[in-house]
Amino acid sequence: MLVSILTEQLFSAKGWRIAATTRQGERVVVNLEPTRANAICSGCGEVKTRIHDVKAARAWRHTDCWNVPTLVRASARRVRCRHCGVRIEQVPWARTKSRFTHAFEAEVLRRARDCSISGVCRQLGLHWTSVMRLIERWVEESAARQFRKPLRVIGVDEVSYGRGKRKYLTIVWDHTRARVVWIGQGRERDTLDAFFAKLGPRRSRRIRVVTMDMWQGYIGSVKAHAPLAELVFDRFHIERYLTQAVEEVRRQEFFRRRGVYRDAVRGKKWLLLTKFRRLRRRKRRELMALLAMNRRLFKAYLFRSNSSTHGPTRPSRVCAPSSSDGADCSTGHGSHRSSRSTIC
Ligand SMILES: [Zn+2]
Repeated sequence: MLVSILTEQLFSAKGWRIAATTRQGERVVVNLEPTRANAICSGCGEVKTRIHDVKAARAWRHTDCWNVPTLVRASARRVRCRHCGVRIEQVPWARTKSRFTHAFEAEVLRRARDCSISGVCRQLGLHWTSVMRLIERWVEESAARQFRKPLRVIGVDEVSYGRGKRKYLTIVWDHTRARVVWIGQGRERDTLDAFFAKLGPRRSRRIRVVTMDMWQGYIGSVKAHAPLAELVFDRFHIERYLTQAVEEVRRQEFFRRRGVYRDAVRGKKWLLLTKFRRLRRRKRRELMALLAMNRRLFKAYLFRSNSSTHGPTRPSRVCAPSSSDGADCSTGHGSHRSSRSTIC
């Protein structure tokens, strides 16, 4: 029974058979032996009949069998290949140089998707580095696969990592397939330039939409390499700049006004920044009274509210910021209103 289940689990390992299944302490060890005289070269994937030698038996960690840690043990052969020289054979249950079977690696990645790295380490008794290497390799291979597919609507963003001095990675993903296609070190213009260099000028020109935050390095790179692409800034950053603009107007009004008008805007930062629908009735009345007293503040508040409500939910033409602070930018129709208003 045990052998038959394990055989099934062992992914139809063609060319190998289970010679014995033993229990060593707390582990189950499945010993495999080859059934064919030939072997597959791990360098080029060709079938080779010339066996150089047989390596000592080694073990691969496999998925647990009835919660009992399971190892697969086999003596891999080395083949003589006219392309690659003497190479270890490719076994069907694991990658070359990996200490885990394909099934176990898939198990690690599945768990890592649902819980923390430390949690995976505790559950499976693995070292943190081993789990991270598996994840890194999976991300790289997945990104390389996705990179080869047509790219029309992409997103660019940075993520920070590390303690002390911040380090950044630039992530490029395909909105159409919702997959990461490229990862680069840093968040400078050169970083994104490297992506377009790898993509090539012909594929770069076919990109239609690029979503991003208002980072000048990214904007410059996209304009240089993908001139036909429309820039779409994400709503989070637009709202942040609008919020900053309202607060700046409030501060200006505080220093500009005197007497009761100054007192009216004193300490009203959060009253203005909180969404209207989240305010209690008393606060709403307070807000309306404040806006009735101050025309500039009223215009700023109204502009922010309208822009937040009607921000872009789909790719649309958006103006690029002319300055690094981006406060004079908004959505396509919002920018038209901002040009007429005096708040920015
Ligand atoms: Zn070869």
